[in-house]
Amino acid sequence: MVLNMDSNADVEVEDRKSGSNSADSEIIMPEIPESILKTLKSRKRHMCIKSQDSIPSCNESSIPGAVTQRSCVYGGARVVLMPITDAIHLVHGPVGCASCTWDIRGSRTSGDDLYKTGFSTDLKEKDIVFGGENKLFETIIELNKLYNPAAIFVYSTCVVGLIGDDLKSVCKKAQEITKCRVVPVQSEGFRSFNKSLGHRIACDALLDYVIGTDSENDQNQIKNENSRYKINIIGEFNVAGDLWAIKSLFERIGVEINCSVTGDSRVAQIVKAYNADLNVVQCQKSSNYLAHEMEKSYGIPSIKVNFFGIEETSESLRAVAEFFADEKMMKKTEELIGGDVKVLRSKIMGYRKRLEGKRVAVYVGGNKAWSLIRSFEELGMNVIMTGTQNGLPEDYQRIQDAVKDGTLVVDDAGSMELARLLKKYKPDLVVSGAKEKYMALKIGIPFCDFNHDRITSFAGFQGFINFAREVDRSVSSPVWNLVPKAFEE
Ligand code: SF4
Repeated sequence: MVLNMDSNADVEVEDRKSGSNSADSEIIMPEIPESILKTLKSRKRHMCIKSQDSIPSCNESSIPGAVTQRSCVYGGARVVLMPITDAIHLVHGPVGCASCTWDIRGSRTSGDDLYKTGFSTDLKEKDIVFGGENKLFETIIELNKLYNPAAIFVYSTCVVGLIGDDLKSVCKKAQEITKCRVVPVQSEGFRSFNKSLGHRIACDALLDYVIGTDSENDQNQIKNENSRYKINIIGEFNVAGDLWAIKSLFERIGVEINCSVTGDSRVAQIVKAYNADLNVVQCQKSSNYLAHEMEKSYGIPSIKVNFFGIEETSESLRAVAEFFADEKMMKKTEELIGGDVKVLRSKIMGYRKRLEGKRVAVYVGGNKAWSLIRSFEELGMNVIMTGTQNGLPEDYQRIQDAVKDGTLVVDDAGSMELARLLKKYKPDLVVSGAKEKYMALKIGIPFCDFNHDRITSFAGFQGFINFAREVDRSVSSPVWNLVPKAFEE
């Protein structure tokens, strides 16, 4: 494959025969106008302009040389479990795996902060040759003595999978000696091109080693307690305090949060996750599987919710109230929505005036890519480009349903591709994560972080006001009058 690295060039890129995807010849290419972007030949079917039925090819291995922005399976597992605040998260592998995901989420805590410390077995050449099991065992024993944690989650990385360390038996032996819960997470990075497998492995670790592991006596006692209107929030990671915003809405309608998986959670709370009447699933990408398995094991039904945006927050609260079919709760919910939305609309009016008609490029996780579109419409803005790193066909179908004709939809774009798309489409705002932040700023396009690194809560009604303020601060900042835009050079 040959890449022209000149970012200003109208790039023509050809796959070498030996490096191109041999499956290309069998794939029926969706209709993509030549004019979207010149890129690797085998990448073209991953982009499309919304028309009647088109969605981009997705959920496939990234093409070598395309410089994907994706994370690995271990990263996927780590982001799901890391917000458990009173646990040690021990990465069994070379130190790089631990450092590149340390504090990867801006998950906030209301108490314990052990999860903020990074731990690694720091495997070296000698360990790779002779095996890393002894080092892992000794590390667990030492960490337990030093920190007395509620649990130790042990993550397997690529090299551990290759040398064949028996993670499960080391964890079992260490647990017998320490009496601390030691949870193996078989998350070798190479196990899939899609980090979603890591989410699933993390959910399996919770199902097999944490949820419902208390004694039968404890479980019976809890079930006999008055447990009206208890829910678990699944797939909510308390980035910038989002969980707390959602929690306060539920408290106002008389619904109690039994546990959150996993934002601002403690191990003991997750053990008792079986004690809920309903699972509400916020991040459907990481947590549908867990909800499904909990329904099979504990009979807890689930509903999908979304607390980003005015309509989504309102509909999610209504769905929970309707599930409990309690007249009083439904009335309270309508009063809450009516009052809060009225205040919200008056507060965002000023922002909306400045943002009306501005064009947005969104490149975020699967379900955010479609749920954010409506939020921008609320601000009078137009989404002209959207995409995800690991979207599934159902995510792209929802994007297809939500965006207007003519919107560009792109799957698994590399950084160079994204930079070229931004220069070509010239949006007024890019909404994405840390990896895309400086690329957008260097091109001269305002940026809003909607990923793990943001420091402002965007959930619920107050969150939407914060979101509108953040977007307005980025787009309307006078600094952009002084910064030359790369596409105007
Ligand atoms: S791909 Fe493998 S080596 Fe790289 S961070 Fe993931 S687990 Fe570590």
